[in-house]
Amino acid sequence: MQFLRFNYLSAAANHLIPKWAKNWKHPEQIAEFRDAFKDDSPSVRKERLEACRKIGWRLSLAFHTENEYERDWLLYEARRVNASYFPQMVIETNDSQPDDKVEILSEGNPTDSLLRFVQQRLVKRMAVCPGKNCRKRFYFRDPGRHGQRYCGRRCADIARTESQYRWKESQK
Ligand SMILES: [Zn+2]
Repeated sequence: MQFLRFNYLSAAANHLIPKWAKNWKHPEQIAEFRDAFKDDSPSVRKERLEACRKIGWRLSLAFHTENEYERDWLLYEARRVNASYFPQMVIETNDSQPDDKVEILSEGNPTDSLLRFVQQRLVKRMAVCPGKNCRKRFYFRDPGRHGQRYCGRRCADIARTESQYRWKESQK
């Protein structure tokens, strides 16, 4: 069961998180969000897409920074935005002040599960592909490949062909 959950989250994170970061300005263009919010009223839909935009912006910053502290913080911030838009539980006690109130999400919130998975398991593998015509831009490095520069074979092949061409030109 744990293993299935890990596989599911890993596949979902690899698929959605880079896309979310790349299209952060226009979350309504991401098919998953279009479908997820299509039955909501216009005002709720607007609010949810606004949360998606804010989360996406934090994700794109997290991919860009090389600083692990900053990256962890940005992922935490993305989770916090999600929690402030969709709180499901409020913790307060008889002797707490009104602003002591803590809003948290219940454990099953899908966005939080995904962001938490990235924060715990994929944080060291977040990378930006330098490929000129890269379709992805953001990606997770393959496990154990610390030196990986490009998101995949296509970008690596294009870069290799280009550098071979430049080398040949320089020899003329
Ligand atoms: Zn690429």
